Amino acid sequence: MESRLNPPPFRADLHTHTTFSDGTLTPAELIDLALQYGLQGLSITDHDTAAAYETARPFAKQKGIALLTGAEFSADYAGESVHILAYAFAHDSEIIETFSKKHLERRSRRNLAILKLLQSNGLKIDPEDFEVDFFSQTRPIGRPHIAQVMVKKGYVDSIQKAFHLYLGEGKPCFVYGGAFSVEETLAVIHKAKGLAVIAHPHLIKKRKIFQNLLKMPFDGIEGYYAAFPKNKQERFVRVGKEKKWLITGGSDFHGSIKPSNPLGSSWVDKETFDYLINHQLLNT
Ligand code: AMP
Ligand code: ZN
Ligand code: FE
Ligand code: FE
Repeated sequence: MESRLNPPPFRADLHTHTTFSDGTLTPAELIDLALQYGLQGLSITDHDTAAAYETARPFAKQKGIALLTGAEFSADYAGESVHILAYAFAHDSEIIETFSKKHLERRSRRNLAILKLLQSNGLKIDPEDFEVDFFSQTRPIGRPHIAQVMVKKGYVDSIQKAFHLYLGEGKPCFVYGGAFSVEETLAVIHKAKGLAVIAHPHLIKKRKIFQNLLKMPFDGIEGYYAAFPKNKQERFVRVGKEKKWLITGGSDFHGSIKPSNPLGSSWVDKETFDYLINHQLLNT
């Protein structure tokens, strides 16, 4: 039994995906799971869109969990992919919505190019093979969706294999993402009065790129990430503190498609979450 002297620690997972990008749970299912796990705060950070909030917002209110606006934008730095978390922008931000539309367009072009390459490698996939709407105007379709269809059609036996053999960088059916630059993405997030955070910094393999990102006007760095080895966590937390940036945390939960990242496996405390929520309140 919990006593007043020993309340459960406040935890808010700030990096999660839903069916509005490549996660397997709907926003409502994710919120229910977050409550089951005892999380008190949550941010849904779908790839290139905040469309989940239309349903997530009233549902979270009804269920009594604090919801911070979020999205995870793919960006390009000298041909390398960098993921940027945007937080605390206004609900229904037209600036974010317009930017999402541009991302959907570039993803549509890229996805068709990937299907073409797969076909020329003997792996025929049609838009009708997707359980999700391949031509959706609101839900970004990404490589994980294509990988799922490849498994369904028996071309590969796992999503990992689909990436390893075909879709991953340098593999025969890889198509460059064509995302917008880091500078442009930061400008959009700031114009929307949001805060920009370097996502999963350990995935930025080129040291020089990471050093250059540190000189850019980010507001934070994701210092706590699912299954981070302790030394990595300490390193990024230290870098964030040196920069006087926010240090955020989240699991990068995707549901059953990515079992390595359980919901709540990383989080932020009340102080960080309140700072972000207060920033968001200034925008509404
Ligand atoms: P996209 O946005 O279409 O380029 O897809 C990127 C997403 O694919 C990432 O956010 C990961 O969730 C997933 N991904 C990337 N590489 C792999 C991999 N080797 N195995 C499984 N999933 C991957
Ligand atoms: Zn994803
Ligand atoms: Fe990411
Ligand atoms: Fe993510």
